[in-house]
Amino acid sequence: MLFETLSVIPEVFDPYLDASIMGRARRAGVFEFLSHDLRDWTHDRHRTVDDAPFGGGQGMLMKPAPVFEALDDLSSRGPRPHVVFFSPCGVPYDQRAAERLAREERVLLVCGRYEGMDERVYALADDVFSLGDYVLTGGELAALVVMDSVARLLPGALGDEMSAVDESFSAETGLLEYAQYTRPSSYRGMDVPEVLLSGDHARVDRWRRLSSLERTARWRPDLIDERRLDDEELALVRSVLESGEVGNGSSRA
Ligand code: SAH
Repeated sequence: MLFETLSVIPEVFDPYLDASIMGRARRAGVFEFLSHDLRDWTHDRHRTVDDAPFGGGQGMLMKPAPVFEALDDLSSRGPRPHVVFFSPCGVPYDQRAAERLAREERVLLVCGRYEGMDERVYALADDVFSLGDYVLTGGELAALVVMDSVARLLPGALGDEMSAVDESFSAETGLLEYAQYTRPSSYRGMDVPEVLLSGDHARVDRWRRLSSLERTARWRPDLIDERRLDDEELALVRSVLESGEVGNGSSRA
C-alpha cells in the first residue's frame, strides 16, 4: 500500500511514521510513504499557495491551481490514487472508513491549512473526512490519524503481541472493547474479576461479551443495535440505559 501526502509542511510526517509500530511496518514494506510539497506546483517566486477569499472575511484560503496541478501530475504516475481531503465539514472518519481505505492500493491525503481550501478542489475528492467536531490548524494530523489507523489493519503491521480483530468498533461486534486486566490480580484494593482467572474460556468469552455491551451501553449507546442481542444481553443493556449512568467514563464493567 502506498500513502502519499500533499501538504505545505511535508516534513512533519516522517518522524511519526518512522517510530515504533509504524516505523517497523514501514521498514518491513507493509506500507510505503511519499510526502509531497504543495509548493512544488506553484509558479511564482514566493511559491504562493493561498489567497484572500472572495466576498471578504478573515484569513486566507488555499488556491485551487496548485492542488489541481499536483493531483494531475501525481495521478499520471502509477495507479489512480484514492484521493482524501480533510475538513470539519467532512464525513466523520471511523473504523469502517479505515477498513475501506485499507483495501486501496494508493491513497493520497490532501492537507488543508489556513481557513481551508477553495471549494472547487473538493471536485477531486473520493472522500472528505472530518476527525471530529473541533478545528485543527491543518490537515496533517488528520492525515497521520488516517495513515496510522489504516496501516495497522494491513497484514503484517502489528506484531504477534497485538491484534486488530477483537477491538473497539471491529466489524464483527461494532461495540466498544471489553474491560481488560493484567498482573497483579489485586492492586490497591481493586480485584480483577474472578472469571478472568478461572481458565474457563467459555465463561471468559461470555463475560467479555457482556462487558463490551455494558460499556457500550454506558458510554456509546448510539452504537448499540438491539436486534443483534439475545435476551440476557438486552436486559443488561436496558438496565444500564435505565440506570442513567450513561456517559460516565469513570465506572467500569
Ligand atoms: N475554516 C474551516 C476550517 C479550516 S482549518 C472551517 O471552519 O470549516 C484548516 C484545515 O485543517 C482544513 O482545511 C483541514 O484540512 C484541517 N482540519 C481542521 N479541522 C479538521 C477536522 N476536524 N477534521 C479534519 N481536518 C481538519
